[in-house]
Amino acid sequence: MNDCIFCKIIKGELPSKTIYEDELIKVIMNINPSTNGHLLVLPKEHYVDIFDVDEKIINHSFKVIRDTLYPILKDKLGCEGVTLSENNLLGQEVHHFHIHVTPRYQNDLVDFNYNKELLEDLDTVLEKLQ
Ligand code: AMP
Ligand code: ZN
Repeated sequence: MNDCIFCKIIKGELPSKTIYEDELIKVIMNINPSTNGHLLVLPKEHYVDIFDVDEKIINHSFKVIRDTLYPILKDKLGCEGVTLSENNLLGQEVHHFHIHVTPRYQNDLVDFNYNKELLEDLDTVLEKLQ
């Protein structure tokens, strides 16, 4: 994709702070981190989001997160877990599939803000889901 910033990063046309790379993915530091060590896992091929991406990328990415990235974040930064997330459609800023790996620390104040006033009760939602 010509105008995709993550494709440009992968091609080396834009700078990035890369901490891991293999034939399928590149892992960069988020330019605007939520916590220390907030990483983004990007496939080298352009996919839009989770609904578009090849299954092998998903499998590979989660294996690298679990077996390689988390141990590095734990050992070097002392995090006590990672929150994994993917934005798509509403809320996605960069339309090149990526997984956020957000290291978690005691009292880091990472939080999702929800408007509780918009919520229906659990049984109403359950009925809709069934
Ligand atoms: P989203 O598409 O909503 O998952 O958000 C895209 C994420 O990419 C944001 O957290 C940005 O801080 C991050 N980001 C945007 N541009 C860059 C860049 N050039 N290098 C590293 N991270 C970036
Ligand atoms: Zn792209």
